[in-house]
Amino acid sequence: MKPDPISSVVACNLCTGCGACAGLFPDLIKMIDDPENGRRPVVRQDMEGRAASARAMTVCAGVGSDWTALDRHDDADQDWGPVLAAWEGWAGQSDMRHSGSSGGAVTALADFALTSGVAAGVAHIAARQDDPRLNEAVISRDRASLMRGTGSRYAQASPAEALGEIVAQDDPIAFVGKPCDVASVNKAINAGEVSNKTIPLTIAIFCAGTPTLSATETLLDRLHVPKSAKLIDLRYRGNGWPGLMQAEWQEPDGTRKTSEGISYAEGWGSILQASRRWRCRVCTDHTGAFADISVGDPWHAPPKGDVDAGRSLIVARTQRGRAFVERAIRAGALVAEPRPRDVIARAQPNLKATHGAAWARRLAARAVGLSTPRDRGQRLFKLWLGLPAKQKLQSVLGTWKRILRDRLWRSVRVTEASG
Ligand SMILES: Cc1cc2nc3c(=O)[nH]c(=O)nc-3n(C[C@H](O)[C@H](O)[C@H](O)COP(=O)(O)OP(=O)(O)OC[C@H]3O[C@@H](n4cnc5c(N)ncnc54)[C@H](O)[C@@H]3O)c2cc1C
Ligand code: SF4
Ligand code: SF4
Repeated sequence: MKPDPISSVVACNLCTGCGACAGLFPDLIKMIDDPENGRRPVVRQDMEGRAASARAMTVCAGVGSDWTALDRHDDADQDWGPVLAAWEGWAGQSDMRHSGSSGGAVTALADFALTSGVAAGVAHIAARQDDPRLNEAVISRDRASLMRGTGSRYAQASPAEALGEIVAQDDPIAFVGKPCDVASVNKAINAGEVSNKTIPLTIAIFCAGTPTLSATETLLDRLHVPKSAKLIDLRYRGNGWPGLMQAEWQEPDGTRKTSEGISYAEGWGSILQASRRWRCRVCTDHTGAFADISVGDPWHAPPKGDVDAGRSLIVARTQRGRAFVERAIRAGALVAEPRPRDVIARAQPNLKATHGAAWARRLAARAVGLSTPRDRGQRLFKLWLGLPAKQKLQSVLGTWKRILRDRLWRSVRVTEASG
């Protein structure tokens, strides 16, 4: 029998793991954590499941998104998606700034959405309390719950799984996720699965790609967490900028232990980043073009040490997002100063190059018969042309090498990780 559409998306390496399909049909589509392939949906194989899968395709940005309706005027907008305004700043509350991944701006904006009455809840992800290697989608309605989400989790997470709970109730809920998560939520709004009023604000974090659960296990080995121990906490970022990667666990006799903290440069550079899935390598929106606001690291003015006072780069993508950031600054929820719109290119030169390289990776993959995402209306060729000759060549030859090495023509089959 022909696989249902969502299972095909997974099989062809197009799934980002956003969770939107499972969020809309929680009884029929379930997200599972596969250690190598990522957090991926599994569809119940009966008529009802297959029908849900067909309908869920309308919200799936894994297969592509439509940039044609995005408000773009100049090169900055074409390269990054709409950039209405930019700021550099941090959360007005010092513990939020400290705990945040960069400057705690996402949590400060999310908290301001609650206190200003814009939203009654915020959908985001947080580490699972029973197993901090994994993440869960939650809807926070107070500050304490929001604080659980501070600090980027360089691990698989599916915030759009919260869509089910969002549509099942009447309150306005703001949404926080990676660019691919927000793109699916945007598709859900455009498809009429959820109304724009129900989701009054979307915030995206910049994202260079999500590591796998296997990579988290390697990180835990590097932190010398015993296999027999009960993991209590695992942080990848935050508690200073960019923060240390550090774990806390309980020994079988009940004693609590804290690991050494390794630097972000070591954890991301030597352990986590290599595990990013193929879908992330052909991703062409690393900065949240479909969000109202997106937030990343101002790497153009990097921290001096491992745990500096945090700073975030904040970008308004819509008029609604711009007005909201300005209100948050006036209210003191966010401390931020305006920056020229080109700051995004100065802060993230690697992501601009990645967008260009992804254009050629897609082309090289399609040339040998692989499916790739189709994003309408995005101008990537120009970014590829701007790459140095070596990188241009690498984007094509490196793709073919990876296809052979990872046997990317084979169907992806997902299996749930054991406890
Ligand atoms: C996998 C990954 C790759 C990243 N790559 C880059 C990059 O290349 N360049 C860059 O500038 N920034 C990158 N970031 C974003 C950066 O680390 C910060 O998240 C961003 O600067 C916001 O920081 P903050 O202090 O304002 O957020 P905080 O106040 O700490 O809030 C973080 C928010 O992000 C949410 N979140 C955390 N992890 C995930 C996840 N895995 N999936 C969905 N939501 C999540 C939390 O729920 C929380 O709401 C990446 C983040 C992740 C998770
Ligand atoms: S990208 Fe999102 S909506 Fe599409 S199959 Fe994957 S989890 Fe489902
Ligand atoms: S790199 Fe792109 S596809 Fe991968 S997790 Fe980040 S936003 Fe999603």
